[in-house]
Amino acid sequence: MTLEQRIAHVNKVVSEACERAGRSPEEVNIVAVTKYVSVDKTKQVLDSGIVHLGENRWQSAKPKWEALGSRGIWHFIGQLQSNKVKDVIGKFAYIHSLDRLSLAKELERQASAADITLKAFVQVNVSGEDTKAGLPPEKVFDFIRQLGEFPHIEVIGLMTMAPFDSDAESARPVFRGLRELRDELNAKNVQAKPIEHLSMGMSGDFEVAIEEGATWVRLGSILVGKEED
Ligand SMILES: *Cc1c(COP(=O)(O)O)cnc(C)c1O
Repeated sequence: MTLEQRIAHVNKVVSEACERAGRSPEEVNIVAVTKYVSVDKTKQVLDSGIVHLGENRWQSAKPKWEALGSRGIWHFIGQLQSNKVKDVIGKFAYIHSLDRLSLAKELERQASAADITLKAFVQVNVSGEDTKAGLPPEKVFDFIRQLGEFPHIEVIGLMTMAPFDSDAESARPVFRGLRELRDELNAKNVQAKPIEHLSMGMSGDFEVAIEEGATWVRLGSILVGKEED
């Protein structure tokens, strides 16, 4: 399939899932995950009109960012070590994997020095799998409260990943759990501005994630393909 065909397919799946859920497709934002592909392929993605690009490691993002940085809006979606914060500050506008205070402190310190504000998703381990990054749901309220002291980090949403090897339908309770957690946090006024966004859903399960309220889906293989395609 060409990139245009992939985009058309994804748009169709998004609008059908929205229709089933009574949502507007405009509520669903797409991050094209380019971690599997080259600079050239990433350029094609940008040429197609997609602006939000996701990468999970600076090493894989670097050549693309250096060639195309100013053309995209970059999302860091992988686990982030505090000593790698310097690689992402000023380049990635969004961080999807904020899951601990030590990382938040370092992000705040460097974002403040660079005079920028990061948009952040707090990553939650809804499934409880021990291989998954993210905070347990019961710790999220206190964590977001603490983040209130960090003016250069704006918490806009929650992020989760479905369990490995699950089919889309069995991921549904995980996605629903993240939505319910968001609603509960907002009902308790966890921060002045309600938490709006849910970053959930990948190639194998994004339609279910959208039915459960995803506002950002992170799509690699189904949208951008892998390099051998
Ligand atoms: C790789 C990756 C994705 C995209 O994966 P696909 O299944 O190829 O769509 C989404 N989110 C995260 C955190 C990833 O690391």
